[in-house]
Amino acid sequence: MYSVDEALAQILPAFEPLPAKPIALRKARGRVLAEDILAAIDLPPFANSSMDGYAVRAEDVSAPDAELTVIGDIPAGTVPTQTVGAGQAMRIMTGAPLPDGADTVIPVENTDSARMTPELPATVRIAQPGILGDYVRAIGEDIRQGQVILRAGRVLRPADLGVLAALGIVKIAVIRQPKVAILSTGDEVLSIHEPLTPGKIHDSNTYTLAASVEALGARVVRLGIALDHAEDVEERLMRAVHAGVHLILSSAGVSVGAFDVVKSVMSRMGALAFWQVNMRPGKPLAFGNVHNIPFLGLPGNPVSALVSFDVFARPAILKLMGRDPATAYAEAITAEPINSDGRRTYVRVTVERRDGSLYARTTGSQSSGVLSSLVAADGLLIIPDGMTDVPAGTHLPIRLFDE
Ligand code: AMP
Ligand code: MG
Repeated sequence: MYSVDEALAQILPAFEPLPAKPIALRKARGRVLAEDILAAIDLPPFANSSMDGYAVRAEDVSAPDAELTVIGDIPAGTVPTQTVGAGQAMRIMTGAPLPDGADTVIPVENTDSARMTPELPATVRIAQPGILGDYVRAIGEDIRQGQVILRAGRVLRPADLGVLAALGIVKIAVIRQPKVAILSTGDEVLSIHEPLTPGKIHDSNTYTLAASVEALGARVVRLGIALDHAEDVEERLMRAVHAGVHLILSSAGVSVGAFDVVKSVMSRMGALAFWQVNMRPGKPLAFGNVHNIPFLGLPGNPVSALVSFDVFARPAILKLMGRDPATAYAEAITAEPINSDGRRTYVRVTVERRDGSLYARTTGSQSSGVLSSLVAADGLLIIPDGMTDVPAGTHLPIRLFDE
C-alpha cells in the first residue's frame, strides 16, 4: 500500500498544464494567465494633476500670499495649448495634463478661491506655499513602458484586470479551464430531488466534490448516480469520455465490498494503477485511467471523499490549471492529546489563535461518515505516518480551509 506521498508521486505526473486560449478581459477574473504581460505604454501616459487646483511654477509659490494671473483652464481630457510663465497660473482639474512651464499644482483648497466656480477668476492668491512637484503625477510613475507587470501563472484578481484595462489590453491568453467529471455510485444513493425511502441516503458527495472543483475555477460535468452495476458505471463514464474531460472523479464502490465495481470497470476501460493509500480517513482510493483520461476513484464516506479530494484531486486540478500544486500548511499546537493508528491522519479540528500561535482541538467524532464534524472544522491537522500518541503541546502541520 502506498503512503500519501508515494500515491501523489504516482498521480501528479499524469497531469500537465492545459493549453492557452485567448479570452476577453471582462471574463478573466480567476483565470490563470498563460503569458507574461509587458506594458506597451507608460502609466500614467502623461504628467497630470492629482488635485483640482492651479498649475504653477514652483518658484512662484515658495512664499505665502503670492498673487498669480490665471491665463486659462485645463479640464480633464483636454490638452493645454498655453505655457505657464512667471507669475502665471492655469486652473487645472484632477487628471488633466500639466501645461508646459508648470511643474507644481496648488490645490484649490490652498488658494483664496476655496471653491471651484464655472467662471475662471482673473487672479488667484496662494494661501499656502507649495514645493516643486506637489500634486503632480509623473509620466510612468505607476507603470513604466516595457515593464513586466503580470507573470504567466498568475491567478487574475480584480486589481490585475484594472491594470490590464488601463493598458488597453482587450484580450489575454489564459490556461483553458479543466473539465472534471463527477460520478456518484451506490444502489443506496438517491438524488436530492427524490424523497428518502427506507435504506436509502441522499447523494452529498456530488455536491461537496462539484463545489470543490468549481472553487478551484474548473468546470464540472455531472454524471449523476450510478447503480452498483458495471454497465451503469461504464455507460456514465463513456459520457465523460465523449465530453472530453481532463479528470474523472467518482465516489464510493472502490473498497472491498461485494458490490464494489468501480475498480474492475476501471481495469476494463483503461487501467488501475493502485487502489489503497495508507491514510485516515480515506484508505480506499483508486487511481488509474479510463480511455486515457486520469481517473480518481474516491472513497464513498463523505468525509473521506472530501479529504481525499483535497489531498489528491486538488493538486491534480491545480496542475492542469498551470498553478502550483503544492498544498500550503500552517503550524498548529495540539490543545489536547490525540491518538492515531500510525497511518497518516487528517484530523478535523477547530483552531483558536493565542499569543500568535494556533491551538487545535478535534471537532468530536472522527468517523468518516460524520460530515458535520467537517462543517464544524477550521482545518485538517496532519498526524504524520508512524505517530500514534500525540500529546497536548505537539506542533503539527495544519491545512486551514480559509487560507
Ligand atoms: P462504499 O465505498 O461504497 O462502501 O461507501 C462508503 C459509505 O459512503 C457508505 O456508507 C455509503 O452509503 C456512503 N456513500 C456512498 N456514496 C455516497 C454519496 N454519494 N453521498 C453520501 N454518502 C455516500
Ligand atoms: Mg457502496
